[in-house]
Amino acid sequence: MGRPYITCRQLIDFIADYVAGDLDDVARDDFERHLGVCPSCRAYLDSYRKTTALACSDEPLPDVPEVLVQRILGRDLVERLKRGEAQAFEELVRRYSAPLLRAARRLLASEEDARDAVQDAFVSAFRSVRDFEASAKISTWLHRIVINASLMKLRTRRRKPEEEIEQYLPRFLEDGHQTESSAPWQESADAMLEREELRRLVRETIERLPESYRVVLVLRDLEELSTEETAAMLGATANAVKIRLHRARQALRAMLDPYVRSYG
Ligand SMILES: [Zn+2]
Repeated sequence: MGRPYITCRQLIDFIADYVAGDLDDVARDDFERHLGVCPSCRAYLDSYRKTTALACSDEPLPDVPEVLVQRILGRDLVERLKRGEAQAFEELVRRYSAPLLRAARRLLASEEDARDAVQDAFVSAFRSVRDFEASAKISTWLHRIVINASLMKLRTRRRKPEEEIEQYLPRFLEDGHQTESSAPWQESADAMLEREELRRLVRETIERLPESYRVVLVLRDLEELSTEETAAMLGATANAVKIRLHRARQALRAMLDPYVRSYG
């Protein structure tokens, strides 16, 4: 006799791990057997994946490959920075202001705060350049610094009144079925992204997420930090980060659902 089917509630709890490839063989098998018989969970998983793809996409800003940067700036940039050469700092600022500003804007609502955070980041980069290890990438190092500066800024801002995230999480009946079945999103994420209107809606919807969830979504899905890095930056446990990320994606999915389906 085979193992009993898991419930929709159990499946939905494990979606983040499933998508990340973190389920062991037995759990993955249970997950996929349920998917095979449950159109609602298939629709939910598909829209969850599309939500993540929609969230990640941003106005593209070509990243300069590090190799090229090294060539342009000269291999000895770090050495020159460590010696305190003014021109080396200018080159650094010119080269990295745009990508750092983009990262700060994702975390901070006001343009002024984002610009301040970038400035703060360069100041702390200048101060800590002696600790910079030659084996690291300059872009990665600066990226972490600007995120820290942005988080610091965020902490000094008075929090906006927030919506409760629970209202956007799926609800279940006692038998573990969703109270309302999920309906499919017909279009591909790529096709949806071609609509400027929808891209704007995704950005605005991310901004409406409660802050502790929004920050985790931005750091993990948009800035592509690992669970552990995100946890360290926020002073949270890895487990708390995983839970918040999954809830943030679920809430974003629920908030986009009526719009995406009305396009269909
Ligand atoms: Zn199901």
